[in-house]
Amino acid sequence: MVKKTERGLYIKPIAKGTTIDHLPAGSAFKILRIVGKADSTITVAIRVPSRKLGVKDLVFIENKILSDEELEKIALIAPNATVNIIENNEVKQKIRLSAPKEAHNIIVCINPNCITNRENVPSRFYIDIKTGKAKCHYCERIMSREEYSSRIRV
Ligand SMILES: [Zn+2]
Repeated sequence: MVKKTERGLYIKPIAKGTTIDHLPAGSAFKILRIVGKADSTITVAIRVPSRKLGVKDLVFIENKILSDEELEKIALIAPNATVNIIENNEVKQKIRLSAPKEAHNIIVCINPNCITNRENVPSRFYIDIKTGKAKCHYCERIMSREEYSSRIRV
């Protein structure tokens, strides 16, 4: 798959694996926390000019298909990202992400006194699809997407 932008080619296309496009600028490092453990070659482009977003980040992961859990985490960080599965240099599948309404045992609550941080209680958050904010089921603390994006369990 060839990624072309107004200024040309930013990342070498991959023959097989997963590409994540239309990531908000600056979010690639949060995505890397999620997918970076894989034993794969990963290429990242930061602040690539984009007609749609102004600037965007890109993450290409060679020879790896993301799990549903990884996709759910990516959807929390960047619900409008475009995920493509590449095989034989072609897009085999486009995955449409959507932010989950609830996140179970994925986000670490920002409140140090929350029961989920003090006892062995799995976290549970409700996501407001419009604002992207997450509310803790237990302590009712509200976190912005910016806040919980870097507090996702890996
Ligand atoms: Zn909490």
